[in-house]
This record gives sequence, C-alpha cells and structure tokens, in this order.
Amino acid sequence: MFIPDRIIFQKDSLNYEISQKILDRFGDNKNIEIITLSSNRYKQHIPGDDLYSMYREGKKTLIVGVKKGFKFQTCKPSAHYQLPLVSGCMGQCEYCYLNTRLGDRPFIKVYANIDEILEQSGRYTNERLPDITIFEGAATSDPVPVEPYTNSLEKAILFFGANKYSRLRFVTKYNDIDTLLNLEHNGHTEIRFSLNTPKIIKQYEHATASLKKRIEASIKVAKAGYPTGYLIAPVFIYDNWKEDYRDLLLEINKMLPGNLKYPITFEVISHRYTTVAKDRIMQIFPDNTLDMKEEERKFKYGQFGYGKYLYPPESLNEIKEFFQKEIDEIFQHKEIKYII
Ligand code: SF4
Repeated sequence: MFIPDRIIFQKDSLNYEISQKILDRFGDNKNIEIITLSSNRYKQHIPGDDLYSMYREGKKTLIVGVKKGFKFQTCKPSAHYQLPLVSGCMGQCEYCYLNTRLGDRPFIKVYANIDEILEQSGRYTNERLPDITIFEGAATSDPVPVEPYTNSLEKAILFFGANKYSRLRFVTKYNDIDTLLNLEHNGHTEIRFSLNTPKIIKQYEHATASLKKRIEASIKVAKAGYPTGYLIAPVFIYDNWKEDYRDLLLEINKMLPGNLKYPITFEVISHRYTTVAKDRIMQIFPDNTLDMKEEERKFKYGQFGYGKYLYPPESLNEIKEFFQKEIDEIFQHKEIKYII
C-alpha cells in the first residue's frame, strides 16, 4: 500500500467520499503532511531543487483532485480508451516508461469524482454498441497500491461487471488486491501482473511488491475467477537469463490451480529505450547499470514518430523462440498474446 509523505487536496476534492476516506486513514498520522488547497496549484508544495530530488519527492506525494472535462484518451492497441482513475505510480523502476511522461515531479494523483468518471465510460460504451468497449485502468499509473483507501477499482469492477458491453483491464506490480476478490466481476475485468526475474526486480524495480507477493496475488485473483494474465517485461538478456526466466515460469505454473475458466494470458516485451528516456534515467538514477549501449542495439522508428533502441534482430528472435517454447511446454490452459 502506498503511504505518502504528503497529501495534497486540490480545490473541491474534499466534497467527495474518497477524500474523506483518505483523511480518515491518514489525517492523524504525524508523519504525513496534509495540505488543503483552494486552487489547483500544487508545484510549490512538492520540494526539490533538481530532477533527482524532485523525482523522489514527487514519488512520495499523493494528490487528490477532481477530473474536469470528460474526454478520455484513446489507448490503442490494447484497449479503446484509458480509464482515468489514477495517474502516476509509487514504484521507482529505473527503466519505467512513465519516467518521461509524468513531469519533473511524478506525483500520484487519484480522482475523487469516480462516479462521474464511470458514468462517462458508460456514455463511451453506448456510442459503440453493440460492440464491446475496452477500458485500460493502468495506462499512466499503477492503480493497485492506492486501492485500500480509494476503492476506485472496486467501484469500477462492479460497474463494468454489471455492463454486458464494457470491459476493464489493468496491470500491476503490487499485491493490494484482497478487497477485489469477492466482487461480482462477471469476468469483465482482466487483471495482469507484471513480473520479472528476482535479479531484475532487486536491481531495478525499487519500491514495488516482491515477486513472491505478486505471484501470490495473481493466484488469488485467478482463483476468484478473474481473467488473469502475466506481463513479463522488460525482458533483459544477461548471463543465465534463460534459466532465470524459465524458473519464473515454472514458479507461476506450480502455484496456479488447474481448473481455471479463462486461459492465462502472456504478454512478453523485451527491453527497449528512447534517447529521451535514457537522458532522464541518467539524471534520476545516475548510478544505474541498465543495459543501454546504442552500439549494441538496433534503432527502430516507432508508430508514434520517435525511435527506440531494441535488441538486435538475432537477440529478439532468441527471446521470441525461448518464450514461445517454454510457455507452450509449461502451461496447459494459456494464450500468448504477443512476444515483442
Ligand atoms: Fe513504472 Fe510500473 Fe514501476 Fe510503477 S511499477 S514505476 S508504472 S514500471
């Protein structure tokens, strides 16, 4: 669970139930600064003189706001729209794709007017009838570590569970899912867990849940009947990488029950980076040991107009062949969505 150092309530947010729950939980905690704003200006309340310190202070800040304007961002190819429940994430993964997307102070923001947001998702769903509309709840966030005191996912899962024509999906590196287990989800919410080898988690995924806790949480949601999946990302090539990733797959399979209604899905993404991301990472994690040598990578233009450094084709093929073969051999009831 995310326990911030400071909580900033933006204008009007205290009129909503979520804000009261947050105050009930943290209001008396002497270690947490509570700031109530009569505007939406928050920057001066998050300290830091340079990117290094602003990053760390931002990651310890929770902002409670009210979502104004209800145009949802699209979210291709994995979903039709982003569902804006939370933005930002308490994790400090060195390679995180959000490092360049959340500004200099990457705070965690929760939206208090969840009922209005869900109503808007209903309008988007109605526009596309009779097709099913898919919403992604973790496009710019990890919504799970704030769930114990926002209950936003709980509301969203119940809302989507009651609608034949809409679906919710989200991915997490955390394990605060116990309050989601007994909900009437009707199979309309897919929960994916982002996993990596113990070496990569220890080295790069700071302030996230341990591998053991993530796997245990994934087993609980699978047993609760949710469509469940694993995002294995980013895959790094290092000494013994195949043994470590194989052990990871075997460990998951050992714990999964055999009678699941939905196939376990796999998405596998090899490590890649942009020049902008590398520059940012070098400032906020100057001692990082991430494998980011351009001369050992293949530059490729992406669909959004900027290029990425991928592993060279022979390494990518090796990753694809390895995961295809291992997942096929180890798991019975599964679906590989993609390996890239
Ligand atoms: Fe980024 Fe996910 Fe790590 Fe959060 S948990 S910092 S979203 S990679």
